[in-house]
Amino acid sequence: MNKIFLLILIPLFLLSSEVQFTKWQSGESFLNFLDRHALPQKIYYNLDKSDQTITEEIYAGVNIQILRDSNQTITQVLIPISEELQLHIYKDKNKYKLKSTPIIYDKKDEAFTVTIENSPYYDIVKATGSKKLAHQFVNAFKNSLNFRRDLRKGDRLVMVYEQKYRFGRTFSMPVLKVAMIEMRKKKHYIYLNGDNRYYDEKGIEAEGFMLNRPVKNARVSSGFTLRRYHPILKKYRAHLGVDYAARPGTPIMAAGSGRVIFAGYTRGYGKLTKIQHSDGYMTLYAHQRAFRRGIRRGKHVKKGQTIGYVGSTGLSTGPHLHFGLYKNGHARNPARVIRITTNKLKGKKLKAFKLLKEEYNKTVELHLRAASKAPVQEVFDTVYYLNIKIPHSQKEDANESI
Ligand SMILES: [Zn+2]
Repeated sequence: MNKIFLLILIPLFLLSSEVQFTKWQSGESFLNFLDRHALPQKIYYNLDKSDQTITEEIYAGVNIQILRDSNQTITQVLIPISEELQLHIYKDKNKYKLKSTPIIYDKKDEAFTVTIENSPYYDIVKATGSKKLAHQFVNAFKNSLNFRRDLRKGDRLVMVYEQKYRFGRTFSMPVLKVAMIEMRKKKHYIYLNGDNRYYDEKGIEAEGFMLNRPVKNARVSSGFTLRRYHPILKKYRAHLGVDYAARPGTPIMAAGSGRVIFAGYTRGYGKLTKIQHSDGYMTLYAHQRAFRRGIRRGKHVKKGQTIGYVGSTGLSTGPHLHFGLYKNGHARNPARVIRITTNKLKGKKLKAFKLLKEEYNKTVELHLRAASKAPVQEVFDTVYYLNIKIPHSQKEDANESI
């Protein structure tokens, strides 16, 4: 249905509209935005609780598009809220409406082989043009190998990953599937398993950025999704965090050590704390009944330290903790980095992993033999929806790598 809609609208835009590409301003709320553009506040107040809350997820610097007709009246606005979903404000018979619309993309599995000349990071960037790929590869082995000590010129690496495409260009973070690097004739691997976590060749979880559960013994009542179709409401929505159902007053613990960058109230998330961690990671704790005494902006907290108490403040449907994880401003699935007690695969899970590993190894061998070249990437993170006026392709920004 959405595809048809897209096809009908594009020619209309081309005839009479003017598109403005702009960025979401730092500290701007959705209501401020409507005000500033003389759009009715009803657009916001007509939304349900969940959609009102999601407007708080629009992050500073994200590229938005405003379309105007020949009278300079705004006819449409497109605001991405995740890599897969955007808010679409449009005029329908003189009334403004808002709808969540999927960001349509294709996925491709890609791979490349690189022979080491300088360092894995430098050589991958040179071969692919992508800092994101280089960052992912190096990160995968960060805690298990010492490239500087053990790597020699002429050693080879293979990376197999999934890449999202829009209008034939890449966008978003590639997903690493297998990374292999030879060092002193020995091959070292990291694999993405069916459980969405990374393991080495023995089935031991690769330690990366790891978080503790923010609430003890709590049930996950709603998982993370960049985009999900709600069959009853007949609309798309995103849930950029994990909900833990818990009794009011249950202590909330910092999932990792870091610095409090926000402790205050927002309309959607109620009493809200944000903690900045290392490597560009940030965690968010929403709907709290109360902050722990002394938790304020600038305060350093340790992993496991109580920072507040479960509640139902803001636009919440019942007592729970909404827990979010962000890397450089982009929402990530916290479930992928929350420490689980067993980080070594056993029994049936190990068996399934071994089968997967065999397949992956065959793929790696094929690419090694073929010395596969990477498609040189043209970065395309700016236009999310309409293929009208494509701005010049932008050089990748290290800060954008997510
Ligand atoms: Zn939630």
